[in-house]
Amino acid sequence: MLVINVNFVQAEINLEQIKTDIETLASDQMQGRKVFTPAIDKAADYIAQRFEQIGLEHLSGLSSFKQTFSIYQVSPESASIVINGEKVEGKKIASLTFHKSRSWNKPEDFNIKFISENDDFRKSIREINQGNNDTLVLINPTHKAIFARYQSFFSRPKNRLKIDTGPSLVLVIKSAIELKTVEIELTTNAIKKSLANVVGVLKAPSLKDISMKNENIIFSAHYDHLGVKESDTSKVDTKTVTDIKEIDFIFNGADDDASGTTAVIALAEHYAIQNKRKRDLIFVAFTAEEIGGFGSQYFSKQINSDNIVAMINIEMIGKPSKFGAGEFWMTGFERSDLAQIINTKLEKMGAQMYQDPYPKQNLFYRSDNATLARLGVPAHSFSTDEIDKDPHYHKASDEVKTLDIKSMTEVIKKLSIAIEPLVMGKAKPTRLDTTKVRKKGNFF
Ligand SMILES: [Zn+2]
Repeated sequence: MLVINVNFVQAEINLEQIKTDIETLASDQMQGRKVFTPAIDKAADYIAQRFEQIGLEHLSGLSSFKQTFSIYQVSPESASIVINGEKVEGKKIASLTFHKSRSWNKPEDFNIKFISENDDFRKSIREINQGNNDTLVLINPTHKAIFARYQSFFSRPKNRLKIDTGPSLVLVIKSAIELKTVEIELTTNAIKKSLANVVGVLKAPSLKDISMKNENIIFSAHYDHLGVKESDTSKVDTKTVTDIKEIDFIFNGADDDASGTTAVIALAEHYAIQNKRKRDLIFVAFTAEEIGGFGSQYFSKQINSDNIVAMINIEMIGKPSKFGAGEFWMTGFERSDLAQIINTKLEKMGAQMYQDPYPKQNLFYRSDNATLARLGVPAHSFSTDEIDKDPHYHKASDEVKTLDIKSMTEVIKKLSIAIEPLVMGKAKPTRLDTTKVRKKGNFF
């Protein structure tokens, strides 16, 4: 047997493979990896094929790398409201329900709230959104303009993992009055649609330390993006383009988040080759992040979150960070001691990880880590993006040529070392305090 002593343990995290993976995922062939399109299946197939090559196993209970599930696209169909015997005009109603049909006719069936002239409309709605009861809101006509915006928002289709469950909300423009009788009837139209996460596992070899049995680490990124939108002109040079057919409207999502997905594949390959681990490593490419994080929501319900030691969610690492090329930062720095564990490890190499420099952007809540964080998992996102001024963010111009693959490769290598104490079972980050993690709204 040939024994090679490799000091540079991450030699397999190489620029060429990273380039191949990201160029494939962000290619025009993938048509912007939009959910519910055949093109996103191509991306899922590619990730599954790489997981296969690397030698990952299927998640227990699955017969392939794909974790398929359905969501419902729910559109309002009709809303009829009669208050004190008087029918309310349609333009004064905004309703939101995820039931095929819902009717209330006794005031005790639901909560009644008033938003008066002097109330802060947004604040009141935000509070109602945290509640879990069927609610009728009577809104003073002075809030007509902002009401109209919610009405338009409620009228668009909404996605949901489950239907015929959860509270319903009805907003009505009407000055506060005594409610003697109320009859409300709502109906919706629900279309069932199929989605798939791609999941692969590297099992820890049988352990002497039984306390770490069942413990796992999640490495994740979302592979879906925005598809093709003919309204975006960020790539159009109006001086030279004369024919609209020549314009590229594909949102390639190279940085968002083909870069993270590529990193997940690269880390899987690294830890597979290294073949030293004391915990199960689970690699997930989430779907449907861009439409509300449904991939991670579904995933979180299929796994016991108590067993997840940490979630390393990777979002947009393709461009050098404000701290320089090869440098990265983490969201929710102070919420667990994962940052300390990582920096203790990195300091030994004269390196460090930074704190999320854009706290006002609420990035902790803007990716799939938030779903697991709400369950107490030390779930954080790792990024390099200058989100405050990135001209390509959610634009058709988010293409591989805007990235620095060398910097990205450096970040992945550094991350692979930073996480080693977790992989090797030498550290276990503190759980998140779920009372400090903002809940998702019950309505929207
Ligand atoms: Zn993203």
